[in-house]
Amino acid sequence: MTKIIVPVKRVLDYNIKPRVKLDGSGIDLSNVKMSINPFDEIAVEEAVRLKEKGIASEIIIVSIGVVQAKDTIRTALAVGGDRGIFVHHEGDIEPLAVAKILSALCQTEKPDIIIMGKQAIDDDYNQTGQMLAALLSHPQATFASKIEIIDNIVRVTREVDGGLQTIDIEKPAIITTDLRLNEPRYASLPNIMKAKSKPIAEFKSTDFNVDISPRFQLLHVSEPPKREAGIVVKTVDDFVTELKKLGAI
Ligand code: AMP
Repeated sequence: MTKIIVPVKRVLDYNIKPRVKLDGSGIDLSNVKMSINPFDEIAVEEAVRLKEKGIASEIIIVSIGVVQAKDTIRTALAVGGDRGIFVHHEGDIEPLAVAKILSALCQTEKPDIIIMGKQAIDDDYNQTGQMLAALLSHPQATFASKIEIIDNIVRVTREVDGGLQTIDIEKPAIITTDLRLNEPRYASLPNIMKAKSKPIAEFKSTDFNVDISPRFQLLHVSEPPKREAGIVVKTVDDFVTELKKLGAI
C-alpha cells in the first residue's frame, strides 16, 4: 500500500490583491484572508482520490509556518487527510529550509510518494519539490497533469512546452502538481467536524538538526508599474500613426 505525504503551505488567498508594505520590506499580511496554496489543494485532492481507489493507505498533511498553519492542515484533513504534522516557524522560510525539514520528516515517516504543489503562489519559487527530491535522492516528476500508480511504478503525465510528456518513475518519488491534474472538492460540513479530532503532531523548525538559516536577503518588494490608460483611434491610418509614434512599427 502507498503512504503519501502532502506538504501544504498557508498563503495569501488567490482572490486577494497583495498590498506591498509601505517600507517595501514585503507583502502586508495583516488582516487579510489566508488559504491553502491552490496547487497544494490539488495535491491533497489527488492523494484523496488515490485513497478512494484503494491505492493509498495513509495521507499525512505537513505544514511549516506560523500557528495558523494548523488551520491549513485542518482544511486538508477535512478533505480526506488522515493525520497532520505541524512544524512551527515564525517568519519567512526559504524553499531549501522547507525541503530540509521535509527531508528529515520523510526519513522517519518513509512515505512512498510525496505529492506537493509545483509552486507556492506567494513567492512563486517552484523549488521545494525539486530540492526535496535532490536531498532524498528520489526520482521526481514535476508539473503533473495525470498520475497513475502501477505497482512500484508511478506513471506521470507532465505538462511541458508544446504538449504532454509521460514518464515512469520508481517509488519512493516526488510529484509536483499542475493546474489541470484535478478539480479539488469542497469539504463537507460533517467532514470539517470530523477533521477536528484527527491528530496533528507538533514540532518546531529547530527540532530537526538541519541548517535552516536564510541563504539570501530580500532587498526590496515593489508594486508592478501602473498600466497607463489607452487611447481610442477612429481609423486604421490613425492607428498606424500612433503605433509609429510609439516606435512599435
Ligand atoms: P515553492 O517552491 O515555495 O514554490 O513551493 C512548492 C511547494 O512546496 C508548495 O506547493 C508546497 O507543497 C511546498 N511548500 C512550500 N513551502 C511550504 C511550507 N512552509 N510548508 C509546507 N509545504 C510547503
